[in-house]
Amino acid sequence: MATKKQVLYSATKPTGNLTIGNYLGAIKNWIGLMDKYNCYFCIANLHAHTIDLKAEFVKERTLEQFAMFLACGLNPEKATVYIQSMVSEHTELTWLLNCNTMMGEASRMTQYKDHVAKGEKGITTALFTYPILMAADILLYNTNIVPVGEDQVQHVELARDIANRFNHKFKDTFVIPKAVIPTVGARIKGLQDPTSKMGKSGDDPNNVIYLKDSDEEITRKIKRAVTDSLNNIAYDEKNQPGVSNLLTIISACENKPIEEVINELKGSGYGALKKRTTEAVINVIAPIREKYLELIKNPKKLIEIAEMGAKKAKKVAKVVIRKAKDAMGLI
Ligand code: ATP
Ligand code: MG
Repeated sequence: MATKKQVLYSATKPTGNLTIGNYLGAIKNWIGLMDKYNCYFCIANLHAHTIDLKAEFVKERTLEQFAMFLACGLNPEKATVYIQSMVSEHTELTWLLNCNTMMGEASRMTQYKDHVAKGEKGITTALFTYPILMAADILLYNTNIVPVGEDQVQHVELARDIANRFNHKFKDTFVIPKAVIPTVGARIKGLQDPTSKMGKSGDDPNNVIYLKDSDEEITRKIKRAVTDSLNNIAYDEKNQPGVSNLLTIISACENKPIEEVINELKGSGYGALKKRTTEAVINVIAPIREKYLELIKNPKKLIEIAEMGAKKAKKVAKVVIRKAKDAMGLI
């Protein structure tokens, strides 16, 4: 008998346009996982509203990201590619899990603590409780594996704790998920601030290469990327973060070890390094952008594909919700 494929769950928030960091660090690896696992790829639009965003902004980013997922090669026939708000079971399970989460646990989540520590005004309760929504996202599909960056490990741990508590208190209901930090994906830093991660919701567009940037924009942004005055092409994150980041980008785009890239560029200046980075990035982004521009022309078709994904997701989610409600004595 064929063994059942393990379930893998991954998501991005539509808080901005997808970046080359999202692609090289996450989406590119997901492509290869579609054969091995039963994959769920979600546009987590409910999570976007934990911060203050306009409705139109979230709607546009959601459709754009969905189109970008498809343009990058996520296959809705092979995997379940869907938009979170189309599957109401996410919010339903969140309440059931809310009843099984301790204040202490939720208070320990570093992202919430960071926002509070910065003294930000207008923090919503959602910013406090969204890790519980994330636990629901994961537990809703009997997920085994959640590929995440370091910053999200704590949230998967919370999902495990809640699931274990629930299974103990009521009845064995949830599969216990595991966080996996991918070893293959590159961590891409900002072009203007190469000491921190390139993020899609940052303020400075010059710091970020978006997957929908034109060749001219890519060229201009890389030309302006921060380097140093050492004039030495070497990988040294501490003393040469900018140069190291460009090397990481080339290596990830061209699928070759950094040492090989350094060897090829031996004796060249930063001008050549930037030219090479630009070529590598354009080679990756241009075909994705072309597909994306085709897809985004037809939002009706995109919604249809998203509905197909939501239907597949709901089929599994419904069963898990019923089990959880039964376990809790909810008629
Ligand atoms: P935000 O700034 O809103 O948090 P983000 O760019 O960090 O946006 P997420 O939606 O939080 O994007 O994450 C989506 C996926 O992309 C995650 O798997 C995350 O680890 C990965 N990712 C995000 N930024 C990078 C980066 N700079 N390098 C590598 N991987 C990244
Ligand atoms: Mg993030």
